[in-house]
Amino acid sequence: MGRVYNFSAGPAMMPVEVLKTCAEEMLDYKGSGQSVMEMSHRSKVYDEIIKTAEKDFRELVGVPDNYKVLFLQGGASTQFAMIPMNLMKNKVADFIVTGQWAKKAYQEASKYGKANKIASSEDKTFSYIPDVSDLPISEDADYVYICQNNTIYGTKYKELPNTKGKLLVSDVSSMFLSEPMDVSKYGIVYGGVQKNVGPAGVTIVVIREDLIRDDLDDSVPTMLRYKTHADSDSLYNTPPCYNIYVCGLVFKWLKKMGGLEVMKKKNEEKAKILYDYLDSSNMFKGTVVPEYRSLMNVPFITDSDDLNKKFIAESSEAGFVNLKGHRTVGGMRASIYNAMPREGVEKLVEFMADFEKKNS
Ligand SMILES: *Cc1c(COP(=O)(O)O)cnc(C)c1O
Repeated sequence: MGRVYNFSAGPAMMPVEVLKTCAEEMLDYKGSGQSVMEMSHRSKVYDEIIKTAEKDFRELVGVPDNYKVLFLQGGASTQFAMIPMNLMKNKVADFIVTGQWAKKAYQEASKYGKANKIASSEDKTFSYIPDVSDLPISEDADYVYICQNNTIYGTKYKELPNTKGKLLVSDVSSMFLSEPMDVSKYGIVYGGVQKNVGPAGVTIVVIREDLIRDDLDDSVPTMLRYKTHADSDSLYNTPPCYNIYVCGLVFKWLKKMGGLEVMKKKNEEKAKILYDYLDSSNMFKGTVVPEYRSLMNVPFITDSDDLNKKFIAESSEAGFVNLKGHRTVGGMRASIYNAMPREGVEKLVEFMADFEKKNS
């Protein structure tokens, strides 16, 4: 069997070129006589790998000099705790709850301080982004928290919230490196890499330097302090060495593709192919308010559970895999990250049109 088109929300498709480089370098990384998997994280050869990865990431995104880039572990979910532990001075933070991931972050933060839900779209199953232009930001909020692209529901912020001078913290896991971002607008912007960047096991945290505190409560564990990782350039303990190497290959691939402006354009074109079809179809339809549609995660349904099931089974058989929607929402979802070729989306739409013809 050849390679399938994998529409998984994550772990997700990787660029074939990157996988080929991994294969070529598997047994002997650049004449070192060893695989990157086998290297000491304290070796010169590995130091070069992690430093180059950071440098390429900084260039790709345009990370300002007063921000640190950290390669951490524990997934985006660990950040749900680490952020309040490190940023809550007044023990207050405001949350805009636009899906499960924002909700989890909100719930976790409430263990460490006062978490205020200042807006939510839960009333309509998270199918839109609330108006964020003039929210009741708390006077004493240490930060305002958002999840910028909602992986499960398929919505995305059109513009960042007006935080009225407060720090903005954003989870960009499922849109990381899919388009340019202005890091200077955030206090922390972070994401797990397994959606749009690399193999699961790395979380990239971009944090403004003045937020890295050394006056935290003694009870905050060493590994959960940004300062620990910032002071040792993400090498305090053994990092996920191989996975950081693969992320580094993806950064090089993205640079070769032309950078994040080019990726944005490609992603817009790919998403349009699918949304245009959904808008014209009599069988399939998108589930979110069009102006908040995600470029990365596209949920859709038919009006029958049986048809949904049939579609998921038949599409999978035809090589379009992981189209089943999240277990909490049902229906279908196509995640079309950077590594999904345009051809994959075109062929999916052909398959859907054919399915529609045969079943109506
Ligand atoms: C997948 C996802 C998470 C959870 O990531 P883990 O690495 O599994 O902890 C958090 N936020 C968003 C937006 C996600 O898509």
